[in-house]
Amino acid sequence: MVSSSAMAKPPFASRLHLVWVFCIAIISSLAVSTSFAELQRLEHAAKRDDGSLSFLVVGDWGRRGLYNQSKVALQMGRIGEQLDIDFVVSTGDNFYGHGLKNVNDPAFLESFKNIYTAKSLQKQWYSVLGNHDYRGNIEAQLSPALRKIDSRWFCQRSFIVNAGIAEFFFVDTTPFVNKYLVDKDHNYDWRGVSPRATYLSDLLQDLKQALNKSSAKWKIVVGHHAIRSAGHHGDTPELISLLLPMLKAYNVDMYMNGHDHCLEHISSVDNPIQYLTSGAGSKAWRGDIKRYNNRAMKFYHDGQGFMSVKLAGSDAEIAFYDVLGRVLYTWKASKQLHSTM
Ligand SMILES: [Zn+2]
Repeated sequence: MVSSSAMAKPPFASRLHLVWVFCIAIISSLAVSTSFAELQRLEHAAKRDDGSLSFLVVGDWGRRGLYNQSKVALQMGRIGEQLDIDFVVSTGDNFYGHGLKNVNDPAFLESFKNIYTAKSLQKQWYSVLGNHDYRGNIEAQLSPALRKIDSRWFCQRSFIVNAGIAEFFFVDTTPFVNKYLVDKDHNYDWRGVSPRATYLSDLLQDLKQALNKSSAKWKIVVGHHAIRSAGHHGDTPELISLLLPMLKAYNVDMYMNGHDHCLEHISSVDNPIQYLTSGAGSKAWRGDIKRYNNRAMKFYHDGQGFMSVKLAGSDAEIAFYDVLGRVLYTWKASKQLHSTM
């Protein structure tokens, strides 16, 4: 018989995986027994008679204008005007490298208010939090006091925006990721998240209810971390385990994220979900691209830029732009075509 002291310890990754399997079991059991509140819901009225929408998506931007943030902002203003956008979506990592210190942190002015100054960008910004935001004072970034400084700012952990033909489900993805819990190099502000298993269980249950109720033509989920990516960080296994099955079950059309500092379109090979990474609002050019399924990978740009989305009835049109505002890639889809895509 082998004594426990003589048994080899499993490698760290395996132990982490075991912990995560245990967590999933707890989360699943909690999902059955706990009662839930609804996610905060906002109504964004379409401004066009036909109900069509257009918006920009940018992520990983807040660097006081550096790393070409200002150049990307300038082009967002130009394209935003061309498309007469309704709003802007921020996919998180809003303020580098450690979020905001407090509501009076000058980074809010230097990285947001004084950077995105174009007339066309004076619209509502719907933002999620990224892992770098969690390294600062999370309550500051969520505080309504910021909206007194700049009324465009709207950032919550998880929330819903109903914009008529499209419903947006913003999801706080940082608490899903195991490695931040054992990250000894950085502090994370987990206020409002602990205990984590309950937080994730409630969030998933709320999201499930909201997706189930949605009758919008287009269902779009936004989070900071990629479900699928060939970039430096790659796929997020925790989101593949816990979030993706729900997205498939409730016919979500698109998942939009940042985190990897690139522009990227990955298509599903067995369902209609499109994975769109727009995390190139400032620092980019990492030069670290993983091999990926050729059938799924549609587009990858290892550089700065942003994305635009137009939705009109059953039709969607996506475009990616580089730091000079040049169109790098476009993709069009029609809901009726999903069965053949
Ligand atoms: Zn990130």
